[in-house]
This record gives sequence, structure tokens and C-alpha cells, in this order.
Amino acid sequence: MTTPQNPNFAAIDAVVAQAAAAADFWADSSATQRATLLRGLADALEQQQAELVVIADRESGLGEARLNGEVARTAFQLRGFASEVEAGVPYRQVEDHAVAGAPPAGRPRLTRVQRPLGPVAMFSASNFPFAFSVLGGDTASALAAGCPVVIKPHSGHPELSRAVFALAAGVVRAQGLPAGLLTLAEAPNRAAGTYLVQHPSIAAVAFTGSYQGGKALWQAANDRERPVPFFGELGSINPLVALPAVLEKDSEALARTLAGSITLGCGQFCTSPGVVVLLDSPHSQRFVAQLAEAIAPIATHRMLTPGMQQGFEAAAATVAANATSVFAPQADGAGPSPRLFATDAVSFIANAHLREEMFGPAALIVTANSVAQAAEVLEAIGGTLTTTLWGLDADNTDNRQLLRAAQRVSGRVLFSGVPTGVAVCHAQQHGGPWPSSTAPQSTSVGFAAIERFLRPVALQEAPTWVLG
Ligand code: NAP
Repeated sequence: MTTPQNPNFAAIDAVVAQAAAAADFWADSSATQRATLLRGLADALEQQQAELVVIADRESGLGEARLNGEVARTAFQLRGFASEVEAGVPYRQVEDHAVAGAPPAGRPRLTRVQRPLGPVAMFSASNFPFAFSVLGGDTASALAAGCPVVIKPHSGHPELSRAVFALAAGVVRAQGLPAGLLTLAEAPNRAAGTYLVQHPSIAAVAFTGSYQGGKALWQAANDRERPVPFFGELGSINPLVALPAVLEKDSEALARTLAGSITLGCGQFCTSPGVVVLLDSPHSQRFVAQLAEAIAPIATHRMLTPGMQQGFEAAAATVAANATSVFAPQADGAGPSPRLFATDAVSFIANAHLREEMFGPAALIVTANSVAQAAEVLEAIGGTLTTTLWGLDADNTDNRQLLRAAQRVSGRVLFSGVPTGVAVCHAQQHGGPWPSSTAPQSTSVGFAAIERFLRPVALQEAPTWVLG
């Protein structure tokens, strides 16, 4: 495929050309080659963990404990995808033997195989400087699928991105692999990011970030002469429904747990619970008071970037103008003080401003007068990564209605606990209907993430050498 000549973006042209040159080699690479690379990257990351965490903390303010945990998660993902490759996941074949006779009963021999899409443009997330950045889940799953990765680093942690990329390039070199398997596309401006998405040699895009940015790049991917798959995670408000029966039992502990989840990482998690749906009852009222008491004094750390803090304050101000503040901001930390707002279900359903993501330590309590109305609240949200349902132990009509609504709008439904903390495993689903994901059939966390970068091809009457 020809590389466009745009003098403004020559550096992007150069790295995409490198990726394109490596694509056939990596598509045909063996499980051993891929697994060795993924494990080598995990080892190298851990070897330089101490230095990298210092840079990450300076740039992100997330704190060493969280960042060390994130390195462990990143290495776990890389090694996990290595195991997937060794188990044959990207190489699996489905075989239909020939059947004599006319169709539909008769058929030729067909073998369904998976082929890697080709070079993937990967937009790092701001809020996971390791686990969703240069060597994060998108990179690991694309490499495992057999795709070179062109990394668009996030402007929130540029020094860390360069340091992690340098160590990764060293591993690629040391293993004698083509440099184009992993390249860094530093984009000096937003036009450069769009240019990368529209580059004819880019075959797919992975993105985690804002609704506005993600939608603009999704549009750019679809405006290409040949649109390409865009796996974007764009924002999520993660409703949590707590029924009175569960609040009657242990509401104080639940309030503390929820306050911790809302403020974790200064609320900068895609799975942060942003809407709490309660039924009108004395148990709910007591829970709101306990939640306010638990969350108000929590001191948060600084947000990832000044822009993100401005975005949070603007989003919180919009909600404040359309709902009631449960308490005046109190905590005095380096980051914004937690907020809790309240409204009723009718207002929430009618007013789109109340359904916008507040990316930070805040939540909106929505009171419904019936289970049916609580289900309508969920339906109004439309698309979210998670919905949490507390108190659905019994099989009854009300609970089935809530479950139906929760499954319709979200990718993961929790029946206990809180949505922050996303396990990396086979059953995981991180992605839901728009706007939480642009591709709700896929997941960006967990081992099924590899499927995003594989395309099925049916081989009919293939000679033996083709099937290997
Ligand atoms: P972002 O502004 O969407 O940026 C993500 C990436 O896309 C960055 O690499 C950015 O480039 C690029 N980009 C953004 N808009 C673009 C455009 N119009 N054209 C080309 N490239 C574009 O997201 P963010 O910086 O991570 O965070 C900003 C807000 O996103 C947060 O305040 C929050 O509301 C939301 N957010 C949500 C989640 C979630 O999972 N729900 C996660 C993170 C952030 P630059 O690096 O040059 O800016």
C-alpha cells in the first residue's frame, strides 16, 4: 500500500511505513515468536519498574502504590496474552469436511481461519499510564493477534511513554525482530492524530479517552475511503442500583465501600460509579446520609492533568445547576473535593445534562418511585460499561425487569461489590453500547480482547500447504 506524502506528518508516514513493512512477517509469525516477545516485554518492564514508576508518578500524580500495582497488571496482561497465543487462540481453525451432493446438504471442504487485521493505531489512555498505554492491554492483544502496533502516546505522560517505548524497542531489537512491530507516533497536534487514523496503511484503531475525542477519531476512521474498525472506549457513568432490602441490612458498610469506589484514583476510572439509583424509602434516605458522611471528608490526590480538573469542575457545575447538592464541598486535598448530587428519576430521564459523565470524584443520586421507574432510569442511560445491582437475590418480576434493563445498557452487570477494579480473565467484558464503546461486541479488557484484531477468512478446498 502506498504511503501518502504529507510534509507536515513525515514522521507519522515513516513509522506507519515501518509497521506496514513488518505486517506480513508478524502475521505469519509462530506462537513461540509472539509469546517470547510478549514475555520479554513483561520482563523488561519489571526490570525497570522502579525508575519508570518515579517518572509515572511525577507525570500523573497517581502515587507509587497504585502505579506499582499497574505495572504488575501490565506484566500480567502481557504474559496472559503470551499464554493465549501458545494455546493457539489466534491460529484456531474451524473445519467443515466436504459432503457429496448438491447444496444445501452437499458442500465443498471449508476451513475457517483467523488472519490479523494489520497495523493497529493505538491511542494510549491518560488514566492508566502503564496498563492502557504503550505496553498496555491494547498493545498486548494486538501483538498477540499478529498485528504491528503504532503507538500514539498520551500527552499527559510523554516522558514515561518514551521511556517505556525505548525499553520495548530494545526487546524487539534484542530478539532480532523488525523494528516496525512497535513504533511511536508522536503527534504534535490533533490533526496529526486524525492523520494517523486515516493513514491508508492503518488497518484498525484502539482508543480510550473522552467522548468528544473518541467520537471525532471514530468519525475520521469512518470517513476514510476504506473505513477501518475503531475500537473506542469513550466514557461511562456506571449506574449502581441499591434496593431498600439490601440497605436495611448493612447500609453503613455499603456506603463506605461506595464512597471509596467513587473517589478511587480521584474518580479517574472508566468504571467509576457516577449514578446511584435508589427507591424512595427511609432506608434509602439513611443510606444517602451515610454516603454523604463517608465521602465528604475524603481528600483526593491531584488529577492527571489541569485540563482534566477543569473538565471535571465544568461537568460538576453543569450537574449542580440541574440537581441538588447533598453537601457543600469540604475536603481539602491536592485534588478536587468529592461531590454528591441528588435528583428524581423524572428529571434524570428528561434532562440529558444529568446523564453526562463527571470524570472525577462525584456521583448523582437518582430517586425512583418504583422498580419500573428505576429500570427506566437505566434505559435512559443508554450505554455504559457497567451496571451494579445490589439486592437482587430473589427471582421475581421486579428483579427480572431490572436485570433486563441492566443487560440491555451495559457490558458488565455486578450483583455485589463495586465496578472499579476490572479483572483480566477470559469471561471479562469491558465495553457496552454507545457511548461506552464504539464496538460493543468486543472487549478491551480480558483475553477476548485479542478477537478485535483478527478477521475470519473461509478457505475453500485449500491445498495442504495453505493450512500448514
Ligand atoms: P482525550 O482528550 O479524548 O484524549 C485521548 C487521546 O486522543 C489523546 O491521545 C488525544 O491527543 C487524542 N485526541 C483527543 N481528541 C482528539 C481529536 N479531536 N483529534 C485527534 N486526536 C484527539 O481523553 P483524555 O485526555 O484521556 O481525557 C480527557 C477526558 O476524557 C477526561 O476528562 C474524561 O472526561 C474522559 N476520559 C474518560 C475515560 C473513560 O474511560 N471513561 C478515560 C479517560 C478519559 P492528546 O494526547 O494530544 O491530547
